[in-house]
Order: sequence, then structure tokens, then C-alpha cells
Amino acid sequence: MLTVTDLQASYRGLVAIQGISIAVGAGEIVAVVGSNGAGKSTLLKSIAGWVKPDSGGVSFLGQDLLSLPAHGISRTGVALVPEGRRLFPRLSVRDNLMLGGYTKKKGPERDAPLEFIFSLFPRLAERLDQRAETLSGGEQQMLAIGRALMGQPKLLMLDEPSQGIMPKLVDELLEAVRKIRDRGTTVLLVEQRVAECLDVADRAYVLQTGRVALSGTSTEIAADDGVRRAYLGI
Ligand code: ATP
Repeated sequence: MLTVTDLQASYRGLVAIQGISIAVGAGEIVAVVGSNGAGKSTLLKSIAGWVKPDSGGVSFLGQDLLSLPAHGISRTGVALVPEGRRLFPRLSVRDNLMLGGYTKKKGPERDAPLEFIFSLFPRLAERLDQRAETLSGGEQQMLAIGRALMGQPKLLMLDEPSQGIMPKLVDELLEAVRKIRDRGTTVLLVEQRVAECLDVADRAYVLQTGRVALSGTSTEIAADDGVRRAYLGI
């Protein structure tokens, strides 16, 4: 479904990712893990068109994404929920959700994902008129994911969804990720909580200083000695 080939991206001449190649198959949950600054966010932003790579290729369902602007990429069915969520703080939960479906005409088709979103995150349904800025961190993350789902993406990319939320909610959130996949959306997941994330992912890539250091099934990655020492505290 998604093929990233030899991708390089830099910020003002400083290379952030160098020669990254990954593949994501339809229906998979693929995790990207690695320490701070390894290039995980840059990889997701490059795929979404928020960062313009220096070289390499990104192909999604046979389309060359690097030739498209960010809004063109989102129309192909790729959505990114960035770190820090980027909600519209002063708007209500309802309006934030509606803005996620902005490419669709008002009507039943636009509203179709709502039922699923509310089944995933019942708290959102209870807080439709609440301003986004007054939600808890976990609720804001749910809203950010809900907003992305309103666009009915084929590939959902999540950048550290567990950031700043309490441990109990992390499991709930990752369970939601599993349900999103089971409903037919492919997921590319960047996470710092490596153990929990490998639990839901089918496969994983470990990034180190802008390169893929290791890749394999989640079971293989979780059993790797280096990974266990560096990320799993074993
Ligand atoms: P983290 O887990 O801390 O979010 P990451 O693996 O997502 O890290 P990136 O955010 O992709 O890593 O950063 C990769 C490198 O690019 C880092 O050295 C970082 O300082 C640099 N970088 C990221 N964004 C920018 C930017 N907007 N301007 C300049 N340098 C940047």
C-alpha cells in the first residue's frame, strides 16, 4: 500500500532522515520506534507532505506522493495526526470533528464515520459542545484521531498518540488503534511506549539517527536484545 524508498530529508542542511525505506501493507498496523531525534516525526511528515524530502520516493496505492502538495496527499487517503494534536482550541468538539470532514459535502456521507468514532471514544459524544481546549490530554488525543477519521483515510499515521496521557488511557487508545485497523484503515504508528506499541503492531521498524536500524515482526523486534535493553528496560 505504502512504499517509502531511500528517503532523505533535512532541515536547513542538517540531515534528519537518511536513506529510509519502509513498506506498509493494506490492513497492517506498522510501528516506528526509536529514541528522541531519530527521525520518526520527520518520516511521517515527509509522507504527509508537510516536510519536503531531499530525495527518495514515496508511493501510495501506486501514486507518487512526492509530486503532490499536502492537501493532494490527504485526498489520496493519507491522514496524519501530528504530535501535539493541533486541534482548533476554541472550537467545540463537534466543530473540530466537522472540520476533519471538510473535503466531503455536508450530508450523510460526511457524517458516516461519527457513529464509529463515538463507539471508539464515547467521551467525545458526551462532550460535543465542549471547547477543545478544555478537554483533558487524553480526550484531546481522542478528538485528534476522531477528526482524522472524519476524512475516512485509508492510511492513518499517528505520531506519539500516548504522549502526555495517563497509563490507563494508553491501553484504551491502543485498543482503539486496533479497532480502527479492524474496520479497514491501515495504521502507521510512531510511539515512545515501545512495549505497548509492539503489542498492537504487526511489524515494526526501529530508527536510529535517521536510519532504519532494525525491522521485523513485532515478536522479532520485542525479542531483540538491543531493543530489550534500549527500549524495554530489560
Ligand atoms: P522525538 O521522538 O523526539 O519526537 P523524532 O524521532 O520524531 O524525535 P524528528 O522530530 O523527526 O525525530 O527529528 C529528527 C531530527 O531533525 C532531530 O535532530 C531534530 O532536531 C531535527 N528537526 C526536526 N524538526 C526540525 C525543524 N523544524 N527544524 C530543524 N530541525 C528539526
